[in-house]
Amino acid sequence: LDARWDTEVCVIGAGPAGLTLGLELAKRGRRVVVLEQKAGFERSFRGEAMSPDAIWLLDQLGLLGRLRGQLLETRRMEVCDGGRLVLTADFSRYDWPSRYPTELPQPPLLAALAEAAAQLPQFTLLRGEAATGLMRDGGGRVAGVRCGTGADAFEVRAALTVVADGRFSPFREQAGLAWRKIPLGRDFVWFKLPLPDSFDPHTYHVRLIGGAHGVLMPTVPDQIRIGFNIPKGELRALRRDGIAALHGRVDELAPELGDSVRTHVRDWSSTAMLDIFTTVVPQWSAPGLVLIGDAAHTLTPILGLGVHHALIDAVVLAPMVAEALDRPAPSPALDVATQAFQRRREPSVALSRGVQLRQERAFKLAGPVPVALRTAAYRLIDRAAPVKARLMTDIYYSLQQAVLTGREHLDLSPSPVPPHRTTELPEVAA
Ligand SMILES: Cc1cc2nc3c(=O)[nH]c(=O)nc-3n(C[C@H](O)[C@H](O)[C@H](O)COP(=O)(O)OP(=O)(O)OC[C@H]3O[C@@H](n4cnc5c(N)ncnc54)[C@H](O)[C@@H]3O)c2cc1C
Repeated sequence: LDARWDTEVCVIGAGPAGLTLGLELAKRGRRVVVLEQKAGFERSFRGEAMSPDAIWLLDQLGLLGRLRGQLLETRRMEVCDGGRLVLTADFSRYDWPSRYPTELPQPPLLAALAEAAAQLPQFTLLRGEAATGLMRDGGGRVAGVRCGTGADAFEVRAALTVVADGRFSPFREQAGLAWRKIPLGRDFVWFKLPLPDSFDPHTYHVRLIGGAHGVLMPTVPDQIRIGFNIPKGELRALRRDGIAALHGRVDELAPELGDSVRTHVRDWSSTAMLDIFTTVVPQWSAPGLVLIGDAAHTLTPILGLGVHHALIDAVVLAPMVAEALDRPAPSPALDVATQAFQRRREPSVALSRGVQLRQERAFKLAGPVPVALRTAAYRLIDRAAPVKARLMTDIYYSLQQAVLTGREHLDLSPSPVPPHRTTELPEVAA
C-alpha cells in the first residue's frame, strides 16, 4: 500500500452508509477512498429487514437487479397480544411503488454496492484497513485519517472525512462531537431456524405476552429469524441457566417451534445478542468531517429502520458534497454542506426514533391493566384504516411520499463522469 493517499473524500467504514456514499460520490466523478477494517462482508443478524422505502431507493440506484434471489417480501404483519390477534397489516393495500418490507441479508447488499462502485475509477475500497486516528491541519481542521499501525501505517489525506463506522464510533469523540446514548430497558437475543412448512414465508409475526416480546421473521434462505427480549444486561444470567432457558422462552412465545429449537439450537454459539440503545448526536459535523449512518444516529432494531436511514443519508449527502468540492473554496463550502445535510436529515431520523421509542414503551408494558390498555390501543388502530395507513406511511413510505409529491428532491441517478480536477488539499500539521 502507498504510505500516503491523497483523495477528495475519505470514508471510514464500508457498511451500507459508507459504501453507498462512496458509490454515489464516484458516480459524480469525485475521488473517494473507503476504509474497512474487516477483510470481508460476512455479518449475520445485521440489517436484514429493509423498509419499503429502502428497497425503493435501491431500485432507483439500479441495484435491485444485482440482488435477485436474496430478497424476500414481507406481505403481511400480525401482532398477537396474550395469544390473541390484535393488529394486522396487509402491505399489498398500500399503493406505493415499493410496498413491502423486505428481508435482505447485509452481505449481498454490501457486495452489490462494492461491485457497482468498483467499476468506477474514482472509487477505492481498502479492505482489512482500520482507521486509527484523525489528522488535522495547522488550523485544527480535520484533514484525513491515519490507518494501520507500525510499519503498515499509512495516511489518507482528504478534503472531507466521513465517519461511517457504525454504532460504537470512537471518531465522534476524536472529532470533539458530543453524543448521548439512550439505553433501552431490554436487550434482544436472535437466532435462526429452518422455516417450518406451517409458516407463510411472507408473514412477519410480533408476539407479546405481558412484558415478553418476540418477533418471528421468515428470511432468506428458507429460514425464520427469531428474536426475543431479555432484561438489559441479563444475557450472562440467562446463559448460566444453560440453553434450556432459551428453549423455555421459545415455548412461551412460539410453542410451535419448540421441537425445532431443541433440534437446531443446542448451545448459545448459534445465537447473537443485540445491545439495544439509541444515540442522539446534537451536531453531526465538525470542520472537515461529517458523521453518517449509525455513527450519527444509532436506532433500535424495531421495524428495521437502521439501513433505511444509512442509505438515505448517503444519497442526500453525496450531491451536496460533490457540489461543494466544485466551489473555488471547497473547505468552507463543505462545512456549509455538511451542516445543511444534518438539517435536512434530522427530522426524518427523529420521526423514526419517536416511533421506535413509543413502540418499545408499549412492548414492555406488564401487569393486567397496562396490557389491557395496550391490547385495546392495537385493536383500535386495527379497525381505523386511515389511522393505520397514516402510521404505516410515517414508518415505511415517507420517503416515497415525499419524493413522489415533490416535497423532497433526491438527485439519484447521474451517469458516471470522468475524473475531476484535483481539489486543493489542506496541509497536514506535523
Ligand atoms: C444485531 C443487529 C441487528 C440489526 N437488524 C437490523 C434490521 O433488521 N434492519 C435494519 O434496518 N437495521 C438493523 N440493524 C441496524 C443496522 O445494521 C445498521 O443501522 C446499519 O448497518 C448502519 O449502517 P452503517 O453503515 O451506518 O454502519 P455499520 O453497518 O455498522 O458499518 C460500519 C462499518 O465500519 C467498519 N468500521 C468500524 N470501525 C472502523 C475503523 N476504525 N476503520 C475502518 N472501518 C471501520 C465496520 O467494520 C463496519 O463494516 C441491526 C443491527 C444489529 C447490530
